[in-house]
Amino acid sequence: MKVAIVGGGVAGMTSAYRLMQQGHDVALYESSPFLGGLVRTFEVGGNRLEAYYHHIFTSDTVIIDLLNELGLGDRLNWIESKVGWFDNGRIYNFVTPIDLLKFGPVSFVDRIRLGLMAAKLRGRDDWAEFEQITAKDWIEKNVSKGAFEGMWGPLLRGKYGDDYDRVAMAWLWSKIHLRFQSRKGGPMQKEQLGYLMGSFQVYIDEMERQMRAGGVEIHTSAPVERITAEANRATGIVLADGTAVRADAVIAAVPSVLFKKIAPPLTPDYDRRLSAVGWQGAICMVLTMKRSLSHIYWMNIGDRSMPFLALVEHTNFIGPEHYDGNHILYISNYLHQQHEYFGKTDDEMWALFEPALRKINPEFSADWVKQRWVFRAPFAQPIITLNYSNDKPDHRTPVEGLYLETMTQIYPEDRGQNYSIRMGDRVAAMAIEDAASRGAASGAA
Ligand SMILES: Cc1cc2nc3c(=O)[nH]c(=O)nc-3n(C[C@H](O)[C@H](O)[C@H](O)COP(=O)(O)OP(=O)(O)OC[C@H]3O[C@@H](n4cnc5c(N)ncnc54)[C@H](O)[C@@H]3O)c2cc1C
Repeated sequence: MKVAIVGGGVAGMTSAYRLMQQGHDVALYESSPFLGGLVRTFEVGGNRLEAYYHHIFTSDTVIIDLLNELGLGDRLNWIESKVGWFDNGRIYNFVTPIDLLKFGPVSFVDRIRLGLMAAKLRGRDDWAEFEQITAKDWIEKNVSKGAFEGMWGPLLRGKYGDDYDRVAMAWLWSKIHLRFQSRKGGPMQKEQLGYLMGSFQVYIDEMERQMRAGGVEIHTSAPVERITAEANRATGIVLADGTAVRADAVIAAVPSVLFKKIAPPLTPDYDRRLSAVGWQGAICMVLTMKRSLSHIYWMNIGDRSMPFLALVEHTNFIGPEHYDGNHILYISNYLHQQHEYFGKTDDEMWALFEPALRKINPEFSADWVKQRWVFRAPFAQPIITLNYSNDKPDHRTPVEGLYLETMTQIYPEDRGQNYSIRMGDRVAAMAIEDAASRGAASGAA
C-alpha cells in the first residue's frame, strides 16, 4: 500500500515508521524545514535544547518502549522534580504533601482538603462523571471556593484564558491521576521526571535515520495544500507548489483546524466534531543566563498580575555543565491566538518580562542574560470542554482511506509525546487493517 502522511510531528513520524516496518510504501510531508513538530529543538552551548520545555513521566510507557526499541533507553535519565509556586511575592516549594501543608495561598483547612482531593482523584479510575462537570464547578463543590481561587483557578486562567471555566474536570482528573503515577512509592515519594540526554531531538533523528534507511520518502518544507478524494475515497495529496501525489491511503497528522482546511468534503457531523474543540497557542521565551534565577525547575505562577504562567529553569533539571555553563530559563505562556502577545515583538515581550523576573529574584539583572529566543506555536493545547466523548472525531474519517490523528483525539488523557506516539501506532494499524479488508473484499491477495 502507498501511504501519504501529512505532518512530521511525533504522531505522523510514528505512523510512517510503523508502516515502513510492515513493508508499506510511505511518503511523509512536513511543512516546516525540520521534523519533530512541537518537539523541535535548537542549539544552545553546544547541545540541542527543546524550543518548548519537555520531560516525560514514568506513566509514559509508550514513549519509554519506543526509546528502548530505538536503542536509546540508556540515554533516558530519571531525575527528581523540583516544583515550586510563586504567589504573594514569594516562592513556595510544591513537591511533597508537607509542602502542601505549608502552602500559604490557601487556608490551612483548604490545604488539607486539596491533599484529600489529590488522594481521591489518584485512586479513581472511572472518569465518566468528570466529563459532565467543569473543573471549576467540581473543585468549588468538592473542595472549596478558596481552594479554587488560591490554586487551581490561577492555573486554569493562565492556561486557558477566558475559557478557564469551560474546561471539563476530565482534563484535571487525567492530569492528577497520571501525575501521581510518576510517584512510584506513593504520594510521599518525590516525583521522577524523565529526560532524554542530548534532548528529545535524539529520538526524532534516530527515527528519521531509520525511516530513510527503510525507504520512507521524507519531504520537509513541503506544505500539503489539499487532500484529494474521488467517490468518497482518498486518492492522494496536492502540495502547495501544485505537485500532486497519488496514494492508496492518507494519514493527516496535523492540528484539527488545519485538517479542516485541507480535507476533502466530510460529513456535517464530522465537521461539527472537528469544530467542537478550540485551541490555545503557546509562546515560550528562552533565556541563557550567567546565573540561576531560583532553585526551582518548574515554577507555577499563581500571581496572575505577572505576565507569564510558568517559569521552567531547565538547568535545575539537566545541569548547566551540559550547556557550556549556561543557565537556561523558559518563560512560558499559553494564549489564545488573538491574544495581544502574539502581536508583540520579542523586545516588547522582554520589556514586560524583565521587571517581573526581578519579583521572583530581586537580584536578577538584565545583564545576567546572554541570549534570548522566542518560539510561537499557534496550536499547542486543545481546550477540552464538557461531554467530549460525544464530540471526539474518529481516526477513521467519513472518507474511505483518510485518517486523522490530532491532539484533540487524545482523551481523557492530556496531550503529550507519549499519547501522540500511541495514536501514531494505532492509526498505522488501522490503515493496515482496512487495506487488508479492502484487499479481501476485492479478491486481492
Ligand atoms: C509549551 C509546550 C510544552 C510541552 N511539554 C511537553 C512535555 O513536557 N512532555 C511531553 O511529552 N509533551 C509536551 N508537549 C506536547 C508535545 O510536544 C505534543 O504532544 C506532541 O509533540 C504533539 O505531536 P503531534 O505530532 O501530535 O503534533 P505536532 O507536533 O503539532 O505536529 C504536527 C505537524 O504537522 C505539520 N503540519 C501542519 N500542517 C501541515 C500541512 N498542511 N502540511 C504539512 N505539514 C503540516 C506541522 O508543521 C507539525 O510539524 C508540550 C507542548 C508544548 C506546546
